[in-house]
Amino acid sequence: MNKVNHFYFSIANLYFKIHLRASTFMHRKIMLPEDEMPDKWYNIQADIPVPPPLNPATREPMDARDMEPIFPKELLRQEMSTQRWIEIPEEVREIYSIWRPTPLYRAVNLEKFLKTPAKIYYKWEGVSPPGSHKPNTSVAQAYYNAKEGVERLTTETGAGQWGSALAFACHFFGLDCTVYMVKCSYEQKPYRRILMQTWGAEVIPSPSDRTDFGKKVREKDPDTPGSLGIAISEAIEDAVRHDDTKYSLGSVLNHVLLHQTIIGLEMKKQFEMIGEEPDIICGCVGGGSNFSGGFFPFVPDKLKGKDIEFIAAEPKACPSLTKGVYTYDFGDTAKQTPLLKMYTLGHSFVPPAIHAGGLRYHGDAPALCKLVNDGLVRSVAYHQTGVFEAARIFAQTEGFVVAPESAHAVKAAIEEALKCKEKGEEKVICFVNSGHGHFDLSAYDAFNRGELKDYEYPDELIRKAIEELDT
Ligand SMILES: *Cc1c(COP(=O)(O)O)cnc(C)c1O
Repeated sequence: MNKVNHFYFSIANLYFKIHLRASTFMHRKIMLPEDEMPDKWYNIQADIPVPPPLNPATREPMDARDMEPIFPKELLRQEMSTQRWIEIPEEVREIYSIWRPTPLYRAVNLEKFLKTPAKIYYKWEGVSPPGSHKPNTSVAQAYYNAKEGVERLTTETGAGQWGSALAFACHFFGLDCTVYMVKCSYEQKPYRRILMQTWGAEVIPSPSDRTDFGKKVREKDPDTPGSLGIAISEAIEDAVRHDDTKYSLGSVLNHVLLHQTIIGLEMKKQFEMIGEEPDIICGCVGGGSNFSGGFFPFVPDKLKGKDIEFIAAEPKACPSLTKGVYTYDFGDTAKQTPLLKMYTLGHSFVPPAIHAGGLRYHGDAPALCKLVNDGLVRSVAYHQTGVFEAARIFAQTEGFVVAPESAHAVKAAIEEALKCKEKGEEKVICFVNSGHGHFDLSAYDAFNRGELKDYEYPDELIRKAIEELDT
């Protein structure tokens, strides 16, 4: 062999070796290069029309101008937009790059533990500074508000996940942030309050004496533990009363789901990188934003005939998708919001105090509900002990201690992987892992001690809450 030929032979040999190694390599953590972070969000309304919110007085579709005291114009534009791709502003991408792109993991040890032929992947959103997917939208919302001259944002928070995501975002754009935190959580769960205050937010236990609504509630019942419904009413009242102030919501609305599609768009690129495609995508549903953000970018493929399944997981204690009715209902208890077309348990529904606080909402995002109603998404409901069992298995195999909300997605993925084992199917399952559980350790403690109780909301009470809907 002459020198030149030998040279080419060696190169070919080297190429072959590298290629062979690459193709047999087990990808455990699929990292997207920073400059491959998506620069546009995907708007589902280009492919699936979402029923509009209605004005409760007239039952006509809401006029965007009626909502301008509460939300900035650009977010209202996005709320109604049917444009397929919406540019992510450079300033937002810059903040995203603190923790994005997020890793896509293959749950190798969990697969081994389950002895399943399925491949299990998860998109890990717990790496953001507040520890969940929520800053994907809080950063965008803070940016558009600041750009339109707003000086302060108000919001409500239960356990503190949304409040801390908004507090984190506001600081970057010089906005003040006022968080109305449900009083019992304010007293019992100090850590997220401290996090919010560290990021510069003002945190007020709700009901407060800052608003007329709060004062009224306190007069009637001075010892009330508060509720998310009351806190929403206070945050909205505060925003409406002050010209320099607007209100911010962390789930349910179209523009929130839009911002979360960065999850699924990154996932898509990561699967392309390793030459795989998911057969099943699952996620947990509170208002529907992290799950929708994960699977919406795959909906066009399904509409074109691709065989891909989407599974929404919720608690049996608050089963809006599996037991609710698909109708127009208020988004809050005080009946202040526009009417939203959704699967609802009734706005008067008070869910029991399960540990996945972020999943205790009586309705769900109208965009997600439309897809469920169209038969594009299947929904399942689980008891919390089964969910924590899944979370413990996950912690012991994959290492991460996930949020009780995210544990519903883990449970769904495990159930599907076990079905694959039964049928001998090698499906690719992917779930959105929405956040870490470092501030939820008391729930893990209760589970570890065997003190966690299951609660299934009685059908009778659900029927009663739904009957009250049109009266
Ligand atoms: C808030 C929250 C949820 C539920 O909200 P969605 O809008 O349904 O995503 C789920 N997981 C975590 C970690 C959360 O903080």
